[in-house]
Amino acid sequence: MTTGDGKRSTALVLFSGGQDSTVCLAWALDRYDHVETVGFDYGQRHDVELACRKSVRSEIMRRFPDWGARLGDDHMIEIPGLAKVSDTALTRNVEIAMQENGLPNTFVPGRNLLFFTYASALGYRRGLSALVGGMCETDYSGYPDCRNETLQSLAHAIRLGTETDFTVETPLMYLSKAQTWEMAETLGAAALVDLIVEHTHTCYHGARDERHAWGYGCGSCPACELRAHGFAQWSEMASEPVEAR
Ligand code: ZN
Repeated sequence: MTTGDGKRSTALVLFSGGQDSTVCLAWALDRYDHVETVGFDYGQRHDVELACRKSVRSEIMRRFPDWGARLGDDHMIEIPGLAKVSDTALTRNVEIAMQENGLPNTFVPGRNLLFFTYASALGYRRGLSALVGGMCETDYSGYPDCRNETLQSLAHAIRLGTETDFTVETPLMYLSKAQTWEMAETLGAAALVDLIVEHTHTCYHGARDERHAWGYGCGSCPACELRAHGFAQWSEMASEPVEAR
């Protein structure tokens, strides 16, 4: 894809090393001439996620040379202040539970607003115009900062605030978890599905000792349950005859 004026198209992917952001990275590598990645370190309880980022990037370069040629630098931004203002299960050792407002206490208020704002500052410096994230409205947890209206409003504010034609792209916005697996297969066939199973990370507890059909994890936290359920649904879908889908 090239832009109308013939300039090369560029993207910055918010990349955590999880399943969703890995599918977004593949989606971006399939569409843009040059793609960089950014991760945020805000005092997560485990480093597993950060280690997975490195292996996903190197496996993409190894298994998909065409994508590897478009994959540029990786950036890491530390936001230690976020842990200080958040009282959540991701940043403290408390039990993951549902709160009275119906959101799990893994919720970091407005986290994605900060992430995209940081990404736009980095993108501005690096000349990257599409900001890509794996947020999803169909997510069981209903985080209000994952919603399309929230993120497109932010995109508008970013364009105004930088006088630059940034776009915010969220290719998974209306997909179920099963459809995210399907998208991975469409983009990179079995090699990408296998890469996601083996090298991405989702589990809230950072468990990587047990390998399930859908990947590594404790198997019982909300993130593992969601991933396992989506994988099972997708496997069922994939085994149906095409005309029944
Ligand atoms: Zn888990």
